[in-house]
Amino acid sequence: MARYTGPKCRKCRRYGVSLCGKARCAILRRQAPPGPRPLRRRKISDRGQQLIEKQKVRYAYGIMEKQFRRYYERASNRSGVTGEELMKLLEQRLDNVVYRLGFGTTRNQARQLVTHGLIAVNGKKLSIPSANVKVGSEIAFSDRGKRSAYHKILVEEIGSREVPGWLELNRDTVAGRIVSEPGAGDYEPHFNPNAVVEHYSR
Ligand code: ZN
Repeated sequence: MARYTGPKCRKCRRYGVSLCGKARCAILRRQAPPGPRPLRRRKISDRGQQLIEKQKVRYAYGIMEKQFRRYYERASNRSGVTGEELMKLLEQRLDNVVYRLGFGTTRNQARQLVTHGLIAVNGKKLSIPSANVKVGSEIAFSDRGKRSAYHKILVEEIGSREVPGWLELNRDTVAGRIVSEPGAGDYEPHFNPNAVVEHYSR
């Protein structure tokens, strides 16, 4: 699946928040947006702001427009609040779950662990980053993953990594489980799912 591969912090600087998840995001060093300095500040319309909110979420999860729109459509067909259903679908992507469990320090790194075949779900290797991981599933390293040099380093570091309440992490076995659906407080507080929904539903 295609994804945005340009310089990550260009997007962080554009939207004024860290979307890359790196500890040393450029936004922490340099606040100005990329490109030449604008001659005057323009007022952003509601539609413009909705587009910005959509792009922020889309870039953070590293998803191309076509697939992101499909997530919106799936969310709007569910019975709950569309914005929250959208965030649940995004949070339960395998690459994001691997990131939330602290197996990778960024979503991009987590995605690589998945595509390189280092991750297993319920004991079977799963190398599709967009795979939807259901409540009750166990997420761990594959046999290949356990033999990797990366795993040896992670075993030492995983003890200090925080995990959200909808996930459970066994730090001794480096295996995680989804114990409940992610809720409204489980994604970055600067995301505005309602504005994302307004962007697509107008
Ligand atoms: Zn950044």
